[in-house]
Amino acid sequence: MKEQIKTLARDYAADLIANRRHLHANPELSFHEFKTARFVAEQLKAIGLTPQEGVANTGLVALIEGRAGRSSENRVVGLRADMDALPIHEANDVPYKSTVEGVMHACGHDVHTSSLLGTARILQQLRDQFEGTVKLVFQPAEEKAPGGASLMIKDGVLENPAPASMLGQHVAPNVPVGKIGFREGMYMASTDELYLTVIGKGGHGAMPDQLIDPVLIASHIIVALQQIISRNRKPANPSVLSFGRFIADGVTNVIPNEVKIEGTFRCMDEEWREDGLRRMKKMAEGMAEAMGAVCEFTVVRGYPFLKNHPELTRRMRSAATEYMGPENVVNLDLWMAGEDFAFYSQVVDSCFYRLGTRNEERGIISGVHTPTFDIDESALEIGAGLMSWLALEELRVKS
Ligand SMILES: [Zn+2]
Ligand SMILES: [Zn+2]
Repeated sequence: MKEQIKTLARDYAADLIANRRHLHANPELSFHEFKTARFVAEQLKAIGLTPQEGVANTGLVALIEGRAGRSSENRVVGLRADMDALPIHEANDVPYKSTVEGVMHACGHDVHTSSLLGTARILQQLRDQFEGTVKLVFQPAEEKAPGGASLMIKDGVLENPAPASMLGQHVAPNVPVGKIGFREGMYMASTDELYLTVIGKGGHGAMPDQLIDPVLIASHIIVALQQIISRNRKPANPSVLSFGRFIADGVTNVIPNEVKIEGTFRCMDEEWREDGLRRMKKMAEGMAEAMGAVCEFTVVRGYPFLKNHPELTRRMRSAATEYMGPENVVNLDLWMAGEDFAFYSQVVDSCFYRLGTRNEERGIISGVHTPTFDIDESALEIGAGLMSWLALEELRVKS
């Protein structure tokens, strides 16, 4: 079976690249993946599948039934690709360069979509040789809150039939092409945005005794919030608090009425996430009040943290080792970036792994979310083949 998959992936490699280039040249922003969804639907129909369209507006779901057809005993595995691009103007000079001004597939979601279409084609071809159901999930808006994954879940993507596990892959410009990366347990962070306004009483800088200085109070608040991270967090819980915006719009001798602060709070523990946010709000409001000011503390909730189910990840890792060879399977570090695949990982056993796309010799080294991001396209054959193999491995597990 492994060799069969490899052969099919090789046969489809040119189409995988052509599809990726088509998607790359025609990127669409989060929640606007209309042409992309149409393209995916056409491709799925062309191989005999019946996609359910319009899930979470621009998402699609399709089922591949194995040999025994659908029955309640059959295992279901979900495979996910995201489809949205970013508001970045592409700086690469390539034949498949984005044709849309200011929009670019700079996070490789074109690769994920093309790869999953390839996986669909391989598994559809092999459907008489496995039992169980493969659920293909093409979701919108990974890049934008509230995250397409959360809306797909609300629209029932994890029901009827319910996947026993979800697999997702993401391009990795720091991992050489030909290699695959895994990490068990905590992998990526929750991402909450913090917006604080400290309101005091501005005036002449020479008369601070008659004012309530929001600049000084806001400065105290920032230091105090960092101490919540260093003193109240369990040391084993990775956490980041960063403020990138601090606007005190006075001048040398004018203290402003208010200060605005914006930052991000990231962690890998949902209980600590709630506790940390509660403590920060209380601290900021309490400190401002004690110093005679008012602090408005607003949290815009992002994605939860992404946890890779340990047993599932071990199984996928050993299957990948069989497919790729042990020298091509690498360990991933914790990463404090966010990813909306985390929503699936909070409710169903999930494994999110990385597909190496770096090629130093060819200068393909730019990070995701940069205008020069690109991939070594030989990763597509690996991505589509490996996901097919992992899905079949997962269907073989007894529930
Ligand atoms: Zn991204
Ligand atoms: Zn991404």
